[in-house]
Amino acid sequence: MRETPCHVSRDEALIFERSHPGRAAYSLPPLDVPTVPLETWIEARFLRPDPVAGLPEVSEVDVIRHFTRLSRWNYAVDVGMYPLGSCTMKYNPKMNDQAARLEGFALHHPLTPEELSQGSLDVLKMLEELLCEITGMVAGCLQPAAGAHGELTGLLLIRACLEARGDPRRKVLIPDSAHGTNPASAAICGYSVQTIPSNERGLIDLDALRRAADRDLAALMLTNPNTLGLFEEEIEEITRIVHEAGGLVYMDGANMNALVGIARPGDMGVDVIHLNVHKTFSTPHGGGGPGAGPVLVTAELEPFLPVPRIVRRADGRLALDYDRPYSIGRVRAFYGNFGVLVRGLSYILTMGPEGLREVAETAVLNANYLAHHLKDTYEIAYPGPVMHEVVFSDKRQRAYGVRNVDIAKRLIDYGFHPPTMSFPLIVPGALMVEPTETECREELDLFIAAMKAIDRECRENPELVRTAPHRTRLGRLDEVAAARHPVLRWRPQASPSRAEAPPDGAPSERIGSSES
Ligand SMILES: *Cc1c(COP(=O)(O)O)cnc(C)c1O
Repeated sequence: MRETPCHVSRDEALIFERSHPGRAAYSLPPLDVPTVPLETWIEARFLRPDPVAGLPEVSEVDVIRHFTRLSRWNYAVDVGMYPLGSCTMKYNPKMNDQAARLEGFALHHPLTPEELSQGSLDVLKMLEELLCEITGMVAGCLQPAAGAHGELTGLLLIRACLEARGDPRRKVLIPDSAHGTNPASAAICGYSVQTIPSNERGLIDLDALRRAADRDLAALMLTNPNTLGLFEEEIEEITRIVHEAGGLVYMDGANMNALVGIARPGDMGVDVIHLNVHKTFSTPHGGGGPGAGPVLVTAELEPFLPVPRIVRRADGRLALDYDRPYSIGRVRAFYGNFGVLVRGLSYILTMGPEGLREVAETAVLNANYLAHHLKDTYEIAYPGPVMHEVVFSDKRQRAYGVRNVDIAKRLIDYGFHPPTMSFPLIVPGALMVEPTETECREELDLFIAAMKAIDRECRENPELVRTAPHRTRLGRLDEVAAARHPVLRWRPQASPSRAEAPPDGAPSERIGSSES
């Protein structure tokens, strides 16, 4: 809490200030063997002059309280609803974490010979086959470590395929509602990007697509449902137009939460799709944690998949096949983020086909429930039945001088993580809300009540909203300074001689003590 009634704030005393010379978190019996200086084994030039100086000397209870306190300054999906649109921050059953922690998986070294890795290879093969079944594709690669990495891999596959056809092309079409990673991936892959506008309903403008689908069209990168939460109803016509022009269709499948168990992109004419295992198939994510962005493809693209491919030999054993002349090569060390893939398999098997279908049905129902109850309070730029997420805007609240960022910050005071803001770019002042299937009706009702209360505050006391959050340890941070001059390392203040000078113009205080 920033305001504390007494002037001794336990929160302000971080672990370094609690340090007492000689205090330790352990007690060991006295040493009964002679001490040998480190220099006996390690040449002095490899030793730091004073390896432990600067570390806090604290008791066990100090350490526990320090980390527990830090964890309570954080918000997490295990604390409450986390409606960060497009990111699918849903609750992840702990059982999948436990599966990933099983010793046979967690301690298995990736260089273990194939004959001793049959179980782990089976996990990968099974997951690949299940993801093919879910997406309606024929083969896949689990290596990509994130959605964006999957995009790059998928585009490299498209490029390899078009080159093999003897018809390399230069242009990738991307709708204006797409996630920012899409144009970035296309550009990294060497393509030029042309934006396709959305029509007044928020869907791809088919006439614009027809005009752009020329002899230079390599691929369309499509997100379905798109980032407005809308299903591209003309998907079959869209894929037909692209194929007729000689291009391929890439689908950004990060939003598979809306389709899983119901509709298969392979049936819609999609040639390549990536999935975000860490969104749809259970892995705690956010904050840059490990992810997995497997890529699934049609038969035509299969020869180009990264090496190694996991194949079943005639005797039934699994093996890693590197002998693939058309492969684009490796896209990652080893075989992907294995723990994330184990979680994905565990999730899919425990949910089963009916369970997965229920995920999509409930995710869509929950988003529509929020849209229905909030549509009279907050503007929805592109009305209509939504899929897994709904994009509101601050259009009505702007009249009181309140912007989307203020509403998002005020939601923190009501105990919710803010929604995704200012994205998609085609909705000014966007507040993109994705409740996911894991929130019950009571939690959704609390969110609706909070959003309505904030709207009332916008009209009656806009300053309260503009200066939110009021109930967090820190208020509004200087986000630009934080991004330009990140203070990534805490430096003990007690011994300034050891502290390094901050980079030019950087705030010299650590984040924890900056004014808010
Ligand atoms: C999250 C997301 C991505 C990128 O996935 P990362 O794993 O963060 O790289 C791409 N497209 C859409 C629509 C997404 O929501």
